[in-house]
Amino acid sequence: MGILIVDDSADDRLLVQSILSAAGYDHLLVADSATAAFSLLGLDDGKYGASRVDLILMDIVMPEMNGIEACRQIKAVERFRDTPIMMVTVKTDPVDLQLAFAAGALDYIGKPINKIELLTRVRSVLRLVHEIERRRTREQELLEVMRQLQEANQMLLRLSCLDGLTGITNRRQFDDFLDQEWRRAVRELTPLSLIMLDIDRFKSYNDALGHTSGDDCLRQVAAAISGAVNRPGDLVARYGGDEFVVVLPGTRTDGAAQVAEALRQRIESLGITHSDGGYTTISLGFASTIPSRNTSPTDLIKAADQALYQAKQEGRNRAKQAGILSLVPHSHED
Ligand code: GH3
Ligand code: MG
Repeated sequence: MGILIVDDSADDRLLVQSILSAAGYDHLLVADSATAAFSLLGLDDGKYGASRVDLILMDIVMPEMNGIEACRQIKAVERFRDTPIMMVTVKTDPVDLQLAFAAGALDYIGKPINKIELLTRVRSVLRLVHEIERRRTREQELLEVMRQLQEANQMLLRLSCLDGLTGITNRRQFDDFLDQEWRRAVRELTPLSLIMLDIDRFKSYNDALGHTSGDDCLRQVAAAISGAVNRPGDLVARYGGDEFVVVLPGTRTDGAAQVAEALRQRIESLGITHSDGGYTTISLGFASTIPSRNTSPTDLIKAADQALYQAKQEGRNRAKQAGILSLVPHSHED
């Protein structure tokens, strides 16, 4: 532990130095004035002092700058804010001590110096310094652990919203998103469209080429759909199995029809060879509505799903619009 002794009296400097070095403190720095101390601490040119200083023993009565002013100036520097300064002084009347404490001194010891008293005080102050440092390190470690926890939480949150296989939004997040968008559309009287799509004859693709190829195909389709739907506010999610869903807020039937057809073409043009010799295709059903309090997101999903079923019935690789009747509002008795 480094100790800086500041005293204009050569005798006192020597005495303190010899008591401390006899007690085993071997990192001792001495200064005969406040200016010399500033220089050792690196305060004069802004550079750090060469040695580490854990405690400063400061005489009060010194020519040029007294110890109290020196203490104030040292304490004003950020890196010495927590460095304890102990006044070593003949001036032990309450007014002087009050000034010294106001300037940032932690403790004082009277002159003439008593060996036992000096060593006891130095030891307890250094123990305090050590304890503060230990706690600070612990605090830093805790902060780091907290930061890592926050990061892990964010990652978990992200993962809980994503589908494990394709990396796009999962069903759970889709349900929440659609609910939110539905409520917004009710408030703002804006349209909302939904596209449901399903890979054609995917069972036989899996059966012929294996589940791993099937997974690859799902990933490619998911990426292609996500890449094609890029308006801010739109959402592509895996609904389950080989079924995907696209939410298009603020979009009417004609817009939904365009997106659906673009998706159909996009998947076909991927050229994923199907076991039957052709390319992998998708069928799509879409529905649009202006949400109201009398209808629910489930109605929109059902309508799009029925249209998808029809697209499958009519031969697959096509997009079908939901019938108007599918979205007739509920009649509420209340
Ligand atoms: P259709 O044209 O009528 O849709 O015929 P299909 O064979 O695609 O029938 P359906 O959509 O009902 O079949 C879905 C198949 O998707 C069944 C299952 O084997 C496959 N599947 C579902 N989830 C996964 C998955 O995570 N990985 C793989 N490889 N296959 C899956
Ligand atoms: Mg299918």
